[in-house]
This record gives sequence, structure tokens and C-alpha cells, in this order.
Amino acid sequence: MPTIRRLVMLYALAGVDCVDVAADVAVVAAARQGFEDAVRLARYLGHRHHRLADLPWLMISLNDSEDPHFRKAYFEAAHCPTDCDRPCETLCPTAAIQFTGMGQGGVIPNLCYGCGRCLAVCPINHIVAQSHQSKPEDFSPEGLSQIDAVEIHTQAGRQQEFADLWQRLTPWRSQLN
Ligand code: SF4
Ligand code: SF4
Repeated sequence: MPTIRRLVMLYALAGVDCVDVAADVAVVAAARQGFEDAVRLARYLGHRHHRLADLPWLMISLNDSEDPHFRKAYFEAAHCPTDCDRPCETLCPTAAIQFTGMGQGGVIPNLCYGCGRCLAVCPINHIVAQSHQSKPEDFSPEGLSQIDAVEIHTQAGRQQEFADLWQRLTPWRSQLN
């Protein structure tokens, strides 16, 4: 969260129009704090050494059904061969795969962003991708009020799922840019 907060502050000061973050209550809160930091720093610097004119939009991504961008890796470490040299652990770009002992550990969901690299490298195809759905119901009304824009991941042939999600966004749509 501190990294997200710091990055959002820097992007805001750099003058971006929109910051797209995970649809996660804690991440949205950290991003909002990053905006507040940017405002404070801009004031401190006297508005001349940065490009902060207006705050960027804060955007989250939702999916109306299964989507490759909304998945996490999973495996049971207890079933890994004891002689495996764990290429999954070495390859994971976010250190989301960690072993705490023989047959213990696995994927830390909060660190996995579903890139799929570990799935491809496992010699016994032991790792699976588990889909998840990011939805507006994950947020309280107060949490939703902090969001300016939404990106909906959909696909051809999913009119019904899209319409359903769009309908559920109704009370919130008037505040979106
Ligand atoms: S899917 Fe990517 S981020 Fe997730 S555990 Fe595998 S390598 Fe790491
Ligand atoms: S590469 Fe596959 S078998 Fe080896 S430790 Fe990772 S998940 Fe287990």
C-alpha cells in the first residue's frame, strides 16, 4: 500500500489524466492518500516545479464474467515433487510464490496479478489459474464515492452479463466521469 500511495502521488504530480488501480478497498484508499500527498507537495513546492493542475481520475477495473486479467495462480505445495527446483518461485516477478518449508507455502493471492508465467514453467502442470470477479458490491457506498471512473472488461457474446453489471452500477453512474 505505501508503494501504491507513493506511485499515485508521483503520477498525479507528473500530470496524468487517470490512474487505474485494482478494485480493492485498501488500494483505492491508498490511491486517494497518494492524491492528497500530491496536493500537499504541490502546495509546498509552490505550483511551479510540477504539472499538477487538476487531480487525475481514479479508475477501477471491473469484469462482467471470466477474464484473463482477473485471475490468480494457485497450487498445493504439499503435492509438489520434493526434487523440484521451484522454477515457479524464481520466475514470479512479484515474489508471490513463497515456500515456508517442505510442502508448505504457495501463492500469496495479494501479490499475484495473474501473469501466468508460473503456469507455463511448472514441469508437472501443477499450477492452475483461478478466476475472480471484481464487482461494485465489494465497496461500501462511501468507498464507491471515492471512484471517478470505471473500466469494464467484457467480451463479444456477453451482452447479458454486461447489461447486468451496468444495471448494478446504476446508483453510482451519475458520479462517474
Ligand atoms: S501468475 Fe504471475 S504473478 Fe501470479 S504467482 Fe504466477 S508468476 Fe507470480
Ligand atoms: S514448479 Fe510446479 S512442482 Fe515445482 S515447486 Fe513450483 S508448483 Fe511445485
